[in-house]
Amino acid sequence: MRIVPVSKRQPVASVRELYDLGYRRFGENLVQATTARVAETTDLAGIEWALIGHLQRNKVRDAVRVAAEFQALDSLDLAAALDRRLAAEGRSLDVLVEVNSSGEPSKFGLPPAEVPALAAELPRFPRLHVRGLMTLAANTPDAGVVAACFERMVALRELLRRTSDLEWDELSMGMSADYELAIQHGATCVRIGTALFGSRS
Ligand SMILES: *Cc1c(COP(=O)(O)O)cnc(C)c1O
Repeated sequence: MRIVPVSKRQPVASVRELYDLGYRRFGENLVQATTARVAETTDLAGIEWALIGHLQRNKVRDAVRVAAEFQALDSLDLAAALDRRLAAEGRSLDVLVEVNSSGEPSKFGLPPAEVPALAAELPRFPRLHVRGLMTLAANTPDAGVVAACFERMVALRELLRRTSDLEWDELSMGMSADYELAIQHGATCVRIGTALFGSRS
């Protein structure tokens, strides 16, 4: 189980503090903010950035320059654009498919039922190393509703493991408010912002 500290809208001094504790891969949700982070942490050897937010097509080029990992793949178009850019840069990228496990209209990600069709196309993109799934659970204090989101993710991963040749090892789920429940459901990655850094500016 890995912890990705989510440093969005946090002071760089806090990133340095967590780096000194041994964290190396931090999460940011915007490409532009990540590019700024790279510039202000050039002295921190081995620091890496996981892009965890929705990515627009016109940001693919910059994303490929700064990200070690992309956790919000949600369309075939985006997969194709990333693969093309990665080939041009001579590199590959770990990716997670983002799933809208709560059905909340405000959330990005594919409905679970649409993931197998995307998964079937992903082997066409050799520069994308598909590692698993990512979700944000329902934003509610009702633990039963949150747990149902995580259960949907576990079931979806089982389905993908049976029907796809890719590995689907990663389940990135759990944030400050719900990481304990996510870990109980088998999260392999939790993305923690405020619980590690304090409230955001
Ligand atoms: C901001 C963010 C987080 C962290 O949220 P906290 O509630 O501060 O822990 C996790 N995942 C994504 C995709 C985010 O945008």
